[in-house]
Amino acid sequence: MGIVTQRLDGAPVTAALDEGTRAALRTRSPTDPLPTLASVHRGVDSPFQFYRRRQLKAAEALGIRFQDEPLPPGAGPRELVERVRRLDADPSVHAVLVEHPLPDPFDFGAAIALLRPEKDVDGVSPANLGRLLAGRPMHVPAVALAAIDIARHYGLPFEGEPVAVIGRSETVGLPLAILLAARPPGPNATVTIAHSRTHDLRQTIANTRTIFSCAGKPGLLTREVVPEGAAVVDVGISSVPDPSRPGGSRSVGDANPESLEGWASALTPVPGGVGPVTVAELMRGTVRAWERLRTEGGGSR
Ligand code: NAP
Repeated sequence: MGIVTQRLDGAPVTAALDEGTRAALRTRSPTDPLPTLASVHRGVDSPFQFYRRRQLKAAEALGIRFQDEPLPPGAGPRELVERVRRLDADPSVHAVLVEHPLPDPFDFGAAIALLRPEKDVDGVSPANLGRLLAGRPMHVPAVALAAIDIARHYGLPFEGEPVAVIGRSETVGLPLAILLAARPPGPNATVTIAHSRTHDLRQTIANTRTIFSCAGKPGLLTREVVPEGAAVVDVGISSVPDPSRPGGSRSVGDANPESLEGWASALTPVPGGVGPVTVAELMRGTVRAWERLRTEGGGSR
């Protein structure tokens, strides 16, 4: 009999995370401020409206205040820096997201470095990435946590196992690879990292049991590349034209689900896999930031 490909849905993972977030929020006294997540973006120029709507909905459902922070039309790097500085100094804001990638001449790295690590809820500042590398994490990129949450929820094996991460960006692939290789209670996996210059992707991942794909390249993973029986956690999200859809486009992952059906042992869907779990991790991170700032005061500045 052939392989039955298990669909690794994000919904039960999200529900479990949200339950923990609600429990933490129940400790709030009526005089405590509401946990507040600020989202800085390029306003009407932003291509990520869809993600923000999802974050707003999740925040509202949990009782987290979502503070929209669009930059004015035509804003540049200076306005971005000023906005991040203002939110960093604002005691009513506990967590800050800065949209990325940003086009030139914006400098995401320079802006995010201005944020105190306690408020950098997506863990993408040099301070938080450094803490992750040093084995003393504070906030960790939500998407990396989400990819591991989903794999753990469905019992994919990690301990000593060969796993692959495709992609090495500082905000997605690299932190995920570091987390996967972390000593217990981390996953303790044996990690191969592939990227666009990898000579032979198929050969490079041939012996891996679980593949985390963070390339943002639709159709990258087919049965010609993925070893038979491997599990695929598809982190990639790309928009492809689809005239049959209301907006004229739809979201797809790096995997070709038709090709992997009956070949891979498991696959996360796009949409509905890692994406919603990432949002749930951001909400959990916001509440943690709120708890930390509430008990420790203003943080490290
Ligand atoms: P990125 O900065 O463009 O990085 C992509 C990485 O993939 C790079 O390291 C690149 O290699 C590698 N790559 C590109 N083409 C490849 C190929 N053909 N074979 C092997 N490796 C290849 O993108 P990112 O910010 O890391 O995001 C990656 C994906 O995750 C995107 O689709 C993004 O939308 C998605 N994402 C999803 C979530 C979520 O919630 N699910 C959250 C954040 C991001 P080089 O380093 O050599 O260029």
